[in-house]
Amino acid sequence: MKVAICPGSFDPVTLGHLDIIERTSYLFDKVIVAVLCNMEKHPNFTVEERMEFLRETTSHLPNVEISSFDGLLVDFAKEKGATAVVKGLRAVSDFEYEFQMSLINKKLCPDIETVYLNTSQEYMYLSSSVIKQIASLGGDISNFVPEAIHTKIVDRLTNM
Ligand code: ADP
Repeated sequence: MKVAICPGSFDPVTLGHLDIIERTSYLFDKVIVAVLCNMEKHPNFTVEERMEFLRETTSHLPNVEISSFDGLLVDFAKEKGATAVVKGLRAVSDFEYEFQMSLINKKLCPDIETVYLNTSQEYMYLSSSVIKQIASLGGDISNFVPEAIHTKIVDRLTNM
């Protein structure tokens, strides 16, 4: 069984993330979406909240599982029996960091490949931080986040 990991902060999940998760689920037998428990990033949503948003919005994808990790991504991938880490690339600005990470991960664990999926054109400008900024300033984010969790996200971000 070919298992892939889609790692990220998902603070919160956007339509751009979902597009990558969905496309990965068509390519692999099983996809583990791994929420990073990194407090250094000062997330707005707890790991549990982020996982719950992901569960709600991926419930139509039977081969997708939601999990969380701290520590090294390659260790988590090995523990889960994954052979690939799948990441989305939005723009050239994502490339340098991702390129470095993939080379480091390859050195740490040669058996795990990093695979990149191009962003879909309609989501190339989307990031969790942009969405948080717009919502906290009272802007409409309904085109950027899944409908099922839109109200919960807006409630939280406008009551900070
Ligand atoms: P961010 O906080 O930058 O939105 P995350 O760390 O949660 O992103 O990202 C998890 C993964 O999803 C990364 O591989 C990232 O490149 C990818 N990603 C995020 N937004 C998009 C998008 N709009 N299109 C394609 N990939 C995306």
